Amino acid sequence: MTDITKTSRFLDYAPAPESPSILHLRKNYGLFINGDFVKGHGKPFKTISPATEATIAEIANANARDVDAAVAAARRAYDTTWSKLSGADRGKYLFRIARLVQERARELAVAESLDNGKPIKEARDVDVPLVAAWFFYYAGWADKLDYAGLGPNPRALGVAAQVIPWNFPLLMLAWKIAPALAAGNTVVLKPAETTPLSALIFAEILQQADLPAGVVNIITGAGDTGEALVNHPDVNKVAFTGSTAVGRAIAKSIAGTGKKVTLELGGKAANIVFDDAPIDQAVEGIVNGIFFNQGHVCCAGSRLLVQENVHDEVVDRLKTRLATLRLGDPLDKNTDIGAINSREQLDRIRELSDIGEAEGAERWTAECVIPDKGFWFAPTIFTGVETSSRIAREEIFGPVLSVLTFRTPAEAIAKANNTPYGLSAGIWSDKGSKILAVADQLRAGVIWANTFNRFDPASPFGGYKESGYGREGGRHGLAAYLESAGWGAPSSPKGISTVTKGASK
Ligand code: NAD
Repeated sequence: MTDITKTSRFLDYAPAPESPSILHLRKNYGLFINGDFVKGHGKPFKTISPATEATIAEIANANARDVDAAVAAARRAYDTTWSKLSGADRGKYLFRIARLVQERARELAVAESLDNGKPIKEARDVDVPLVAAWFFYYAGWADKLDYAGLGPNPRALGVAAQVIPWNFPLLMLAWKIAPALAAGNTVVLKPAETTPLSALIFAEILQQADLPAGVVNIITGAGDTGEALVNHPDVNKVAFTGSTAVGRAIAKSIAGTGKKVTLELGGKAANIVFDDAPIDQAVEGIVNGIFFNQGHVCCAGSRLLVQENVHDEVVDRLKTRLATLRLGDPLDKNTDIGAINSREQLDRIRELSDIGEAEGAERWTAECVIPDKGFWFAPTIFTGVETSSRIAREEIFGPVLSVLTFRTPAEAIAKANNTPYGLSAGIWSDKGSKILAVADQLRAGVIWANTFNRFDPASPFGGYKESGYGREGGRHGLAAYLESAGWGAPSSPKGISTVTKGASK
């Protein structure tokens, strides 16, 4: 057999960078309130490229006064415009936004890759097409809410406060804004402080779409801005995606206020490989599960559970495959592994990886040339990991895989469920009956079978236990933005390739 690790050195790819010249960046971005960009009253901050540490733009910082203005604009728009429109008219705006996202897809992909550090091929082929798909999907629902199984004449909640993380900045925005608008709510959204750029370009798209002023407001800032937003007395709904620690703090602070809430939090998914799985396919699924988006994925398959008798074969083939991944310039179309989003995140990945080693696991790192500037971490595997080890229990949120073994399906299930989280899981096996039997016993919101990290706007997504509660996507995603009526929960759609569990426990 040819040793790919050796040949790949001779078969290097020529640079194929995507040009950032398609971007028409402003030097300074204001807050998007009531349809216009306005100055913020907090101290502005810079957003940088994590690949070069160069400044991209200066960003306004919303303080409590700005949060007030944004919520007031959303309330006004709700009372005077948005709640008066028919579902069909709301749908027309959403279709228009979806088409504009498609028209400006290349620009959005470049902005996302620049600001987040993710490879352009992922931003271009995954993030942005899914953003458009989310708006198209919910555009279709806007005039059909009566048929969503949520009771007759379902009513919007009012103003939604939405706070999102940095790992899929534009996609998380779409997951939040599309169902909220389709259901008839208005929105104030806060992107993460390290990745505000694509949300601000999206604000320009809203202007282009002639969306009535105030229906969507985008305010930038750090945790204190988010805190002021979710605690504002005039918001009716809080939708948060981010860390479990912050989600817990939000749940506490809004308890008893009557605000409806959905929390999409962290994960530590088990990706289970049985000995009857097609190994090459499983190896691709493992790579996609944990090295896609540098492992900055809440539902990443960060714990590999591999049946003991195929452990060595799987790990050997995995190392061979990882040796072919190209780390570097995120804007290069051949790049597989981009930059880590921030120095802070890099420090956390390093710290937990060092702990893994100190706790006795064996560390293997793919050979990569690490650029001089920026934040980088080469794909890393830990074998011989104990269930009690911190790298098996805590979310590393980076390109680091912990490998554990099992002998029987019962042991695989027990180990997979031995986690405070419950967002997703993967099962690799040739036997459909085994997949369904195991899936039934896993406490995870989304279960992929013989695939991983697949997303579809029609499929609900969300967690069990410390991964949060509520569902985004599909009909379930609409319910989160409507007054609870006669909710007839759709039965859990169980497919061969994806099994999604419908209710939080
Ligand atoms: P984070 O919780 O630190 O920040 C998320 C957002 O919350 C940011 O916009 C931040 O400014 C804001 N924020 C911080 N403190 C706040 C407060 N007290 N009140 C209100 N808002 C506050 O998380 P992060 O580091 O940006 O993102 C990574 C985390 O997000 C990971 O744990 C990941 O698993 C999770 N995540 C979950 C999902 C999901 O769907 N379950 C999706 C993506 C990411």
